[in-house]
Amino acid sequence: MSDAPRIITVALVGNPNCGKTTLFNKLADTNATVGNYPRVTVELQEKHFEHNGWRICLVDLPGIYSLTSKSPDEQISREFLREEQADVLLNILDAANLERSLFLTTQLLELGQSTVFAFNMIDEAKKQGISLALDDLSSMLGGPAIQTAAVKGKGLDLLLDAVIAQAQIPHEEIVTTPISYDTHLESSVVKIQDMVHKLYPDTLDHHQTRWLAIKLMEGDDALQGYDNDYSHIIEMVRRERYDLERSHGDSCETMFAHARFGFIHGLLSEVRTVSIDPLKHFELTSKIDSLLLHRLLGLPLFLLIMWTMFKATFSLGNIPAGWIEHGVEWITDHISALMSKGLLHDLLIDGIFAGMGAVVVFLPYILILFFFIALFSETGYLARSSFLLDRMMHTFGLHGKAFIPLVMGFGCNVPAVMASRTIESPKARLIAILINPFMSCAQRLPAFILFSGAFFAEYAGQAIFSMYMISIVTAMGAAVILSRFVIRGGTESFVMELPPYRVPSIDSILFHMWEKAYDFVRMVGGVIVIGSILIWFLQAFPQEIDYSQDYQQAITRIEAQSESAQRNESLTNLRTQQELERMSKSYLGQAGQAISPIFAPLGFDWKDTVAIVSGFFAKEVVVASYAVLYTNNADESGNASEGLRNALSQAMTPVTAFAMMVFLLLYAPCLSTVAAIKRETKSWGWAGFSILFSLSIAYLLAFAVVTVGHWII
Ligand code: GDP
Ligand code: MG
Repeated sequence: MSDAPRIITVALVGNPNCGKTTLFNKLADTNATVGNYPRVTVELQEKHFEHNGWRICLVDLPGIYSLTSKSPDEQISREFLREEQADVLLNILDAANLERSLFLTTQLLELGQSTVFAFNMIDEAKKQGISLALDDLSSMLGGPAIQTAAVKGKGLDLLLDAVIAQAQIPHEEIVTTPISYDTHLESSVVKIQDMVHKLYPDTLDHHQTRWLAIKLMEGDDALQGYDNDYSHIIEMVRRERYDLERSHGDSCETMFAHARFGFIHGLLSEVRTVSIDPLKHFELTSKIDSLLLHRLLGLPLFLLIMWTMFKATFSLGNIPAGWIEHGVEWITDHISALMSKGLLHDLLIDGIFAGMGAVVVFLPYILILFFFIALFSETGYLARSSFLLDRMMHTFGLHGKAFIPLVMGFGCNVPAVMASRTIESPKARLIAILINPFMSCAQRLPAFILFSGAFFAEYAGQAIFSMYMISIVTAMGAAVILSRFVIRGGTESFVMELPPYRVPSIDSILFHMWEKAYDFVRMVGGVIVIGSILIWFLQAFPQEIDYSQDYQQAITRIEAQSESAQRNESLTNLRTQQELERMSKSYLGQAGQAISPIFAPLGFDWKDTVAIVSGFFAKEVVVASYAVLYTNNADESGNASEGLRNALSQAMTPVTAFAMMVFLLLYAPCLSTVAAIKRETKSWGWAGFSILFSLSIAYLLAFAVVTVGHWII
């Protein structure tokens, strides 16, 4: 072997929610999304780093409960493991939940690969009075057993040392403990294993053939993807399974599971001592849940918590937002004073600065909102909110996992759409994907805050809250419509996991907030700048405009009059009128006017139309478009954000504004989400359907708001 550091590929394998991603981040110091929420990771993530002169390539596999499973993300993990791409498997177990964690381990052992076992959440386990005999565990499992507390960074160095030591052991010397099955199962397995061996005498070793035989007997189409003709094996498996089930009265899967749990039970009685009653630990969680998941109180409490969250987001955010507003204004004024008047000045000040300034003001709100979302996720409440929504859907006869990724959509629809991969039933998965765009992502928040601030003053918090409620209710309604009328197939019921409540770690909450702040600033520097420049150009050209009257002459005439309040007012009026005419004859004005008849029944004008169209590319551009479109009004009041709010409140009635908010909330997913939908459904058809479906719902609801609103007022 050469002196150059070898590369070790290490795959993290474990159940959902056992701390894989936390460990991954701590080991490699990276920024993958972590949450106390089953199944957050759906794609393979990979990071490289060095330890003691060795290069380690760490792969975070999606969480799985078993290697016999069917959902797409579980298949990713399984294929990765089967292809033996890793030098060392790092099996992460939840030390506080070993019965469940070890079920996967029993199947990993059968792979016969070099494995290190991390008993994570040891802090949690200790609280429950659990202690583990690590040396015994190591020898029984056939690989180093290390205890870790990933969130606290404990045991990580030992773990890496163990991984490196394990990687240096030659493959032939790896001894993993076989699970022993009863004689009937075992004889069938051996029979099948022989057949597989005959089919691949040279390419597959003993472990691989045995593993395939066991999987086949467990009812898994494990040979799929192998190129030889294996139909005779399948036939034999069918016969063996039939005979076993006849003679034992149990399904084959159950027999294997019993054997595995027998192994686990035996192992744990040897290596685990519990000094506290295990149910005690769940006592507190159960107590809290008896309130938060209460049949009658659960939902009102959820609403109350949400309401408090949005109220707090709005009122707390106002203060730092004011500072940023002044800062932006100060910078803009100074730069504006330094530059000579002209197109470049206008592009920079009225285009880029107006657009960026209008959006950057919302950073504090986003941070506060994400503080709450991270708090809910970390404590375990986010999982409860999905549970509540799911339970409510049972009233409509809808069972399903469709609601698991729903609440994630409050952050951004793209990862939420991707997370639907964990859903096995194709129908539930499709519903989950199609209703997700109705969940109000954080990028829509700035527009809501702008409109609420401009039109609903002291009720702004309530107005924003109502958007989120409409968002949830629409998503649920859409689920009912889709499952009744559009998508075929049944949905199976399932058990939704409720992780125990945990005291959140400040570390990860700050981390989430930092991540969001970073995304936000990047977005302001990217999408917003491009959007603002584009909109500015389109509204500034053509420069030669055929005005309906000679404004310049009229202005000169009035200017000649002696100074008076009336003279100043007519001057302002004339200038505004000219500006309006100029804008409406610009390229943007012409395009907006061409489309705006569609929105006329909703009371939206061509400027609203432009904002709507721009939001289709990315929702956060909506506010920037308004800022650029109304930039001249801002000049007069002196304060850009204040000016924008004033201009808006003159351009629209509160009813139209609310209709606009509803429309912005529900219409068409942004381009990235459409792309994600296409990727996940593998169909442009569903992506197109999603756009049309949400556009029609948005239009109908906005129209309802306008109709009812005008009828009331
Ligand atoms: P994954 O689904 O396996 O990737 O799990 P995550 O890394 O997302 O972790 C799930 C939850 O467990 C998060 O709330 C973590 O903060 C928490 N967590 C992870 N490791 C530990 C640990 O060692 N001790 C405790 N108490 N909590 C942990
Ligand atoms: Mg994860």
